[in-house]
Amino acid sequence: MRRRRKAKILATLGPASSDAETIRALHEAGADVFRLNFSHGSQADHAERYRIIRELEQETGRPIGILQDLQGPKLRIGRFAEGEIYLKRGDPFRFDLSEAKGDQSRVNLPHPEIFAAIEVGAHILLDDGKLRVEVVRRDDESADCKVITGGPLSDRKGINVPTVLMPISPLTQKDRDDLRFGLELGVDWVALSFVQRPEDLAEAKRLIAGRAALMAKIEKPSAIDNLSGIVELADAIMVARGDLGVELPPEDVPGRQKEIVQTCRLAGKPVVVATQMLDSMVNAPAPTRAEASDVATAIYDGSDAVMLSAESAAGHYPVESVAMMDRIISRTEADASYRPIITALKPEPEPTGADAISAAAAQVAQTISAAAIVTYTTSGSTALRAARERPIVPILMLTSELGTARRLAVLWGAHCVVSPDVSNFHEMVDKACAVAEAEEYAGHGDRLVITAGVPFGTPGSTNVLRIAWI
Ligand code: PGA
Ligand code: MN
Repeated sequence: MRRRRKAKILATLGPASSDAETIRALHEAGADVFRLNFSHGSQADHAERYRIIRELEQETGRPIGILQDLQGPKLRIGRFAEGEIYLKRGDPFRFDLSEAKGDQSRVNLPHPEIFAAIEVGAHILLDDGKLRVEVVRRDDESADCKVITGGPLSDRKGINVPTVLMPISPLTQKDRDDLRFGLELGVDWVALSFVQRPEDLAEAKRLIAGRAALMAKIEKPSAIDNLSGIVELADAIMVARGDLGVELPPEDVPGRQKEIVQTCRLAGKPVVVATQMLDSMVNAPAPTRAEASDVATAIYDGSDAVMLSAESAAGHYPVESVAMMDRIISRTEADASYRPIITALKPEPEPTGADAISAAAAQVAQTISAAAIVTYTTSGSTALRAARERPIVPILMLTSELGTARRLAVLWGAHCVVSPDVSNFHEMVDKACAVAEAEEYAGHGDRLVITAGVPFGTPGSTNVLRIAWI
């Protein structure tokens, strides 16, 4: 099965999309990577979804990426005696460590680290930013606040403290359990929530120990402040606009999104734009024009992938949402304005053999109207550099590693095929031609641009560019 677009689609699985039939339909409609969201559902639910995806992969022969998204330290308030209160502008309200049920004047906030880190004048957001209070006094066990934006507040609502760098790890005990479980299942990617600093990635990397690739979710202003260090250490980045959009004013999100995507393109790391992309399709069979435009913007920016959350996990139209995303991406990539924009934002090659070959391959393929670039890659690092060039022609990636192929499912323009390493030039050309034909990328009389590393099978040695006729 060949996709007619370059950018990829991530679809979150959930109650609306957990049977084999729906997961297959999502894949056929365009989902390249499935996201298992460990903020919801039991480990057993995720294991069953995992099993269904791998069965589908076996059946279709197409490598499918599976992303385990860890919940991370989502901070929550405690419970209220009456279940819900209503805060009005100007009301005083206190957060404290007391486990007594809350009332109109106070509620439990079981996070001493917040009280330790917060300062007078800081804003605390509640219930996805719907309510806002300002800290007027604090000590190590409580914070007195004044309500700025009021509204109803009920049990266990989420709390965000945007301006404060929290002295907390992005891995909770639940995350550690879930991570161990996910790695045993065999997930390809692990997404880390609420990353704040580059150091936050260290522990996850140590625990993962190379068994999966690491995606850092950018959803805190502090992560944007530390962006280049985080991009350097992560294998990929997610622009997690749900929480980011709570912590930043809405008018700041588009610019930061562009900054994150461009930083990733420069580094050659895959970047996924996520959350609320087709939000109205949770309840409606078609998106708003603004949502279509939002998906298109991510594509014009050169993002590797766009993601569906509630639309595919819990909405009424999961398959239609993927199909709609597929259509918007395809139409955008075919638009006359797409190429000039992608090219204008394209970073220069770095002074390495791999970049020189990747840039040359893109150029040669365009000049001779090749049917595809065929890249031999072992670890996937050459594949990342080839995709960084954002070539006009498709990129067929041949790897002997199934794990590499699955991870690269998130990568812009990558169509991966698993096949044993070649050992000489003759085989390199023969196999590239055979695979390109079998995968419907080329036919008789077409030309291919092949890149590889000699000696064959040595990671990171890309040094050969060959034009082949079929
Ligand atoms: P979430 O992450 O869906 O796990 O919250 C994505 C986001 O915040 O945008
Ligand atoms: Mn989030």
